[in-house]
Amino acid sequence: MIDEQLKPHGVVDERVLRAMADVPRDEFVPPRLRLNAYEDRALGIECGQTISQPLVVALMTQAVAPGPDDVALEVGGGSGYQAAVLSRLCRRVITIEREPALAERAGATLKRLGYENVEVVLGDGSLGWAGSAPYPVIVVACAALGVPPALVDQLAEAGRLVIPVDTGADRPQDLRLYTCTGRQVTYRSLFPVLFVPLRTD
Ligand code: SAH
Repeated sequence: MIDEQLKPHGVVDERVLRAMADVPRDEFVPPRLRLNAYEDRALGIECGQTISQPLVVALMTQAVAPGPDDVALEVGGGSGYQAAVLSRLCRRVITIEREPALAERAGATLKRLGYENVEVVLGDGSLGWAGSAPYPVIVVACAALGVPPALVDQLAEAGRLVIPVDTGADRPQDLRLYTCTGRQVTYRSLFPVLFVPLRTD
């Protein structure tokens, strides 16, 4: 995975490569897909959701440049895999998941594997998690029409936020990296992606 999928496709940050090598993706996929865990693609998990392609996880992680003292917020915890990768690079990770079954499973997996600096929260991630804000790193793992305002409010000065943005029917989503400098929040497009939707109902 590291040598064939990540290094040739733009993952250059040694810390990110190490974190990707450390976290066992096979522990986060449903048992019947264990043998497929290191394939270069997204895989189905419970509740009709997906665990992202390893390359996308690595590039999103690299884009937000997590630092060892940072607290990271993730929206869309799913299997807990992305949170586990972030946990190797940050001081603490809070991941919000709206599906109770997924939140419970992710929490159990992370605990079993000893990722003690990750907290799984059940709720609507579009509201962020004000308790530990502001965040230098925010990763949104589901697609929205734009950045939910609460997440902009909770982004720290010099913070980095990555999010897939819907750009219209039949078009791929645009993965965007938002950065906060002074009071200005600006973005640049990274690459087209396909994520499950951020649901607020
Ligand atoms: N990062 C995950 C993959 C996430 S798939 C992993 O590594 O496995 C996207 C997830 O976002 C799904 O689990 C879905 O239930 C969740 N989701 C969708 N809308 C949400 C919302 N408003 N708040 C929190 N989670 C949400």
